[in-house]
Amino acid sequence: MSYVILKNSDNKEKIQVSKIFCLGLNYLNHISEMKSERPSEPMIFMKPPSAIIHEGESIILPKISNDVHHEGEIVLLIGQDGKNISIEKAEEYILGIGVGIDVTLRDVQSEAKKKGRPWLVSKGFDTSAPVSDFIPVSEFKDFNDIDITLSVNGQLRQNGNSKDMIFKFAETISYLSEIFTLNKGDLIFTGTPEGVSKINDGDQIEVKLADLATLNIGVKNWSNV
Ligand code: ZN
Repeated sequence: MSYVILKNSDNKEKIQVSKIFCLGLNYLNHISEMKSERPSEPMIFMKPPSAIIHEGESIILPKISNDVHHEGEIVLLIGQDGKNISIEKAEEYILGIGVGIDVTLRDVQSEAKKKGRPWLVSKGFDTSAPVSDFIPVSEFKDFNDIDITLSVNGQLRQNGNSKDMIFKFAETISYLSEIFTLNKGDLIFTGTPEGVSKINDGDQIEVKLADLATLNIGVKNWSNV
């Protein structure tokens, strides 16, 4: 079973992962670099819980791709079940916040886009969802001012802030809950800022959520596993 860790000051709680939602195209500068159009409502896709990995494990570059990208993202952990949640109440459903990488097979995704096929393979393969420990929401003063950075081999590649999101946490949760029942243990990857780029065998990726959480993850080619 896939799980995440909620890290309180004095203990760590293991929480079973239910569904994993992801937002595409949620930062304007990333939309520009992808030459895409601004969506009028949240653009949603999913990853299976089996995609989750933790610090100490590695992203395995699969045989089917030659162009694997990092997308560093702020990730929300849902703490209670809910349906048709209003925007006003939505933030109450967030139990913790962490960072993750929406690892993407860019070549496979481009081909799927061209043919109008689903993104599941390009976004949901094993090891495509590395996540940090989650920090309780009480540690965050302002949901609209959370920094996220991603470095590869010590070199800064992505530097974003939640204030630049098109759809804020509350809007996203409310929108999702009109379509899907949300459950405790659901994760929401909230989209990536600009700066996505290719990762290679042997890379070391570090994602930071302000000064609250860090995720260090290695990269290995399938042939070296
Ligand atoms: Zn993404």
